[in-house]
Amino acid sequence: MIGPTTQLPQAPLAVDEHYVDPRHYPHGVAFLDGQYLPMSEAKISVLDWGVLHSDATYDTMHVWNGRFFRLELHFDRFWRGVERLRMKLPYNREEVALILNNCVALSGHKSAVVQMMCTRGSSPTLSRDPRQAENRFMAFAIPFGSIANKEQLERGLHVAISETVRIPPKSVDPTIKNYHWLDLVKGLFDAYDKGAETALIVNINGHIAEGPGFNVFLVKEGALRTPGFGVLPGITRRTVFDLCGEFGLSVTTADVSRAEIKAADEVFITSTAGGIMPVTRIDDTAIGKGQVGLLTRRLMDLYWQKHNDPAWSTAVLYP
Ligand code: PLP
Repeated sequence: MIGPTTQLPQAPLAVDEHYVDPRHYPHGVAFLDGQYLPMSEAKISVLDWGVLHSDATYDTMHVWNGRFFRLELHFDRFWRGVERLRMKLPYNREEVALILNNCVALSGHKSAVVQMMCTRGSSPTLSRDPRQAENRFMAFAIPFGSIANKEQLERGLHVAISETVRIPPKSVDPTIKNYHWLDLVKGLFDAYDKGAETALIVNINGHIAEGPGFNVFLVKEGALRTPGFGVLPGITRRTVFDLCGEFGLSVTTADVSRAEIKAADEVFITSTAGGIMPVTRIDDTAIGKGQVGLLTRRLMDLYWQKHNDPAWSTAVLYP
């Protein structure tokens, strides 16, 4: 157990990358209420509004080969969300950076999913007034995980478009990363029922929005397009914009209809949980030649190359 202002920990907790707790806690380290804990001991009150009402915001980063990827962009998005939800963090950016570093360093993971969260918390008097709640910050680092497995990355994902409508931006602001996932989870079940591996759901206008944990891009005649309305501004999506800028590729943010995405030359999804991941089938339609497209492959390679570039990544300080 280490206090929040403690500098780099000296000795990692015992690391066994393959150990999974029987209650399904992965090996990892969490920071909660001022303490670093094994994942199996990181527990919060069931009365936290984060649990009761999904009243929370969060951000998910990854560490690859011992380096955080685009940490500053994740921090900007998280701090903006916290402010928009009228929450207050007990730590500043430098302190949170240290906490995240310590979670990864203590876990020993060289490749990890790292998450920071702020929940509304609860009020000491159990008041129903959210202004009286004491907000709670927490974070954790667990082994890296991807939406697409190795086989799916090689042959492309099979996706189904669900009739489920993503909650409108006027109800829940999608630019604040949130746990409003009932629409996305319903989309997933719809996709499994159709024999697909994951889902795309639509916005209130019937256009393609996003999927459970990812944004989507299409490539048509060498130009890229991604939905702009009612979606999370993903950091991986932003990274695709930056890569396109660097390599002179055309990319726009605009509506994407169901027919347009199925008629694309290439389709891929983007997420911190896996990076850029190809899609080769949507419903019963093969995308392009039904194989991972050349441009998608090129972007996938560039994306992972950037993980060693100090302009795009930050080294984890291990003890
Ligand atoms: N859309 C939703 C709803 C998400 O939850 C996520 C990530 O979890 C994304 C898109 C992709 O965002 P990022 O690239 O920042 O991981």
